Amino acid sequence: MSNKPTAQPETNRPQGFSTLCVHGGEDRIKPCYSITDPIFCTATYTFENTQAVIEYVTKKLPREEYGRYGNPTEKVLERKLAALEGGESCVTFATGMAAVACYLMAKVRPGDEIVMFDECYHRTREFCTKVLGQFGVVTHQIPACDYEKMEAAINKRTRLLISESPTNPHLSVVDLERFAALGKKYGVETLIDATLATPYNVRPLEYGVDCVLHSCTKYLGGHNDLLAGAIIGREELLEPVRKLRGVMGMGNSPHAIYLLLRGLKTFELRMERHNQNGLALARFLEKHPRVEKVYYPGLESHRDYEVARRTMRGFGGLVTFLVKDADAQTTARVVDAVRIPRIGPSLGGVESLIEQPMYMSYHDFTPEQRLAVGIPDNMIRVSCGIENTEDLIADFAQALEKI
Ligand SMILES: *Cc1c(COP(=O)(O)O)cnc(C)c1O
Repeated sequence: MSNKPTAQPETNRPQGFSTLCVHGGEDRIKPCYSITDPIFCTATYTFENTQAVIEYVTKKLPREEYGRYGNPTEKVLERKLAALEGGESCVTFATGMAAVACYLMAKVRPGDEIVMFDECYHRTREFCTKVLGQFGVVTHQIPACDYEKMEAAINKRTRLLISESPTNPHLSVVDLERFAALGKKYGVETLIDATLATPYNVRPLEYGVDCVLHSCTKYLGGHNDLLAGAIIGREELLEPVRKLRGVMGMGNSPHAIYLLLRGLKTFELRMERHNQNGLALARFLEKHPRVEKVYYPGLESHRDYEVARRTMRGFGGLVTFLVKDADAQTTARVVDAVRIPRIGPSLGGVESLIEQPMYMSYHDFTPEQRLAVGIPDNMIRVSCGIENTEDLIADFAQALEKI
């Protein structure tokens, strides 16, 4: 299959985002003239004869060899994701964490150091400190968005600067230009986990960030029915990551790849509604007498509102809030009273989800540890799906009445 993205051959007019979602990275004529890219359920790929094997290994003709190294549908998916991020190349993975683990293991050696903002995904921080720590890699965790402290932590052993943006659940937004400039100044590779932002809301590569990582399990897949991860960046930076993926067997299954490709067709339409619901719910909650505080980067009251307004097209579907004068039990009553969002971890799907972080992601923290990371008992995190805005607002209105 050719690597050429679908383009309007007669013009050089750049295509809109949703056109890229539908057609980006795909061949115009596909196997058996199917309009969709088929699922290839195969572990291995065969050769016509010995000569074909020799030609493949010597000329490395663009074809598949063995399932652990790739799949034709995966190639299409990778081209589409690269097109959406405006990047040169993409590597996809079985999960977001597989992407994190593979990228880091491809990039660091014993004695190397990683500098990251401390609001990164907790499993990413755990992988750095506990797993890479066993192999002599040192990780410095810096308070989110403290660029001076981040700069002060860089030394000649620093290999990577890492952050998430926006962060979860506080929704801190990184000034990507400043972050990328730090990497360039010291010759250190920069990585942004932009799972919450998605390429619809912000494209970190445009600000000079080297690589972007996504848990495609969230908005990109969008239907709470698959796990996947992806990293997008320049091919020279991703080549060692792709090679290690093949060694460690961290690629995705043909079915999950197909589902992700399918989900991406409606990505822009879904993001428009996620953004609309997030902003509307955040504004509603901020005015509600039973709400102490709302974390949403699209609210002027958010610490990073200016950075968010400058860099983000929309602010996403995740809304975090604190219930006023409420202990853990009272807060749980709100969670239990909503009728539309289901209780569960994860985010970014068409179905709204709700959780009380102290019981969900932070259940193994002591109260002191939770306080130290800014997770009070009265915190609720909502992932707005694509239900109708008025229905979500009405639901939260009735739930907050109940306490
Ligand atoms: C969910 C998530 C991950 C991990 O992705 P999985 O697909 O669950 O492995 C990494 N980073 C962020 C920001 C996430 O939300």
